[in-house]
Amino acid sequence: MTKYVFVTGGVVSSLGKGIAAASLAAILESRGLKVTMLKLDPYINVDPGTMSPFQHGEVFVTEDGAETDLDLGHYERFISAKMKKANNFTTGQIYESVLRKERRGEYLGKTVQVIPHITNEIQAFVERGAKVAWDGKTDVAIVEIGGTVGDIESLPFLEAVRQMSLRLGRNSACFIHLTLVPFIASAGELKTKPTQHSVQKLREIGIFPDALLCRADRRIPDDERAKISMFSNVPLEAVISVWDADSIYKIPAMLEAQQLDSIVTEKLAIDAPKADLSKWAEIVYAQENPVQQITIGMVGKYVDLTESYKSLIEALNHAGLHTRTQVNIRYIDSENIESDGVGELQKLDAVLVPGGFGKRGTEGKIAAIQYARENKVPYLGICLGMQLAVIEFARHCAGLERANSTEFDSQADQPVVALITEWQDSTGKTEKRTETSDLGGTMRLGSQRCPVKPGTLAESIYGPEVNERHRHRYEVNNNYVEQLEKAGLRISARTPTENLPEIMELPDHPWFIGVQFHPEFTSTPRDSHPLFMAYVKAALAYKQSKAI
Ligand code: GLN
Repeated sequence: MTKYVFVTGGVVSSLGKGIAAASLAAILESRGLKVTMLKLDPYINVDPGTMSPFQHGEVFVTEDGAETDLDLGHYERFISAKMKKANNFTTGQIYESVLRKERRGEYLGKTVQVIPHITNEIQAFVERGAKVAWDGKTDVAIVEIGGTVGDIESLPFLEAVRQMSLRLGRNSACFIHLTLVPFIASAGELKTKPTQHSVQKLREIGIFPDALLCRADRRIPDDERAKISMFSNVPLEAVISVWDADSIYKIPAMLEAQQLDSIVTEKLAIDAPKADLSKWAEIVYAQENPVQQITIGMVGKYVDLTESYKSLIEALNHAGLHTRTQVNIRYIDSENIESDGVGELQKLDAVLVPGGFGKRGTEGKIAAIQYARENKVPYLGICLGMQLAVIEFARHCAGLERANSTEFDSQADQPVVALITEWQDSTGKTEKRTETSDLGGTMRLGSQRCPVKPGTLAESIYGPEVNERHRHRYEVNNNYVEQLEKAGLRISARTPTENLPEIMELPDHPWFIGVQFHPEFTSTPRDSHPLFMAYVKAALAYKQSKAI
């Protein structure tokens, strides 16, 4: 039977609840347990797909094409279970489902209410999500509840999991609460009061935490932990200090040293071998002991260069730790390139244009790509970065001076990138989209397998097949491919059914690749990712060639 760990948050958000939950999951996995994770988001949007990345950070895309919270990216980086649509849900989805049932008359004329109908639906969604991994034989599902205790929005979620723990009975559920213990500089003290209040709030709604994860910028001394223990009625050994770390991959060891995993396995009556965190120790060692370094220029819109590239930044770091390279990322605002030129790119060892949406800053990105192409600087273009590389090449090498994407100019007379109106999703179902489709859920989303052409750079990196995740509306327009290929561009992979270009490269450039998918979503610190490793190696080689 699956057992549950519910992770709630108190005081403020952004304390790293997702990382803490994923770190606990990593420890439990290292103890031989089959672990999965869920994220419950109390907001009303159906999914984060249409939310501004500036407000909400990156949208993480699962294998089965769900646009989810970025915490699911952390989950996949920390444990081996693959996240699916069912691993993340929102209030919007719960209400959508309940309202559909109500319209179908499934509530038999009863008044539909938050308790029990919404709370029952939440429980059903939690149990469904826990089952999608491990053929339904999950040992432990760690359920992270978004928001903080005291929010109106999260109340139904907390009520639902409280009921669930009661229903499942003894040793089936465990509650962990993550709070803030701020250091007040003027007093020179750590303050435990916000934690006390937060736990009180939780107890008011009937949840008694089994462990507290106390976030602070430093280790919390024992006397402060004792105070928290006494006021919150949580045993001293379960008041765990989680201080700021320079690497998220240090958190599993930090929690294991304080025996959080044992508190959980005891509460859940699970018998499992000791934790083996040697893999995580290796990762941390590699991260702290690089033998070389490179600087990559990431060219994007100023507002996007924040939380919106979590997975990408992680993927570059993973490639760094598997090649013992410190990967420095310089964020370059493409609008600055438009006004000041490409001078800022001169000291770089490689250029990267990540995914993105909308016209703003695209001409600056195209200028950066032209610079990389002409100066033989390694270039990686992801999604929009591939589309812009095709536009750049079309304009400057294939005689298509007015080449553009219909995303930026709907009337473009040389639309080398355009909207395609029909495609098949990962299950083979035909999907359609038009200029006026809803923005939510009308993209090409999720994993798709496709063969790689023999003898290409892409094949030397990926082997004969790629299977990567997508999130985009526009595609390279096949009507122009022949002309582009004649001028020296190569399409090195195409989707098997629709024949859509998936990878492009420039054979007379040492390392220039554009991919229509998002390889960053499948990189983990344990295995890294072949494309990012090849990119880092190309940057190292370029750096060396400059030095000679
Ligand atoms: N805006 C482009 C599209 O919709 C690229 C999307 C992306 O980079 N993820 O096709």
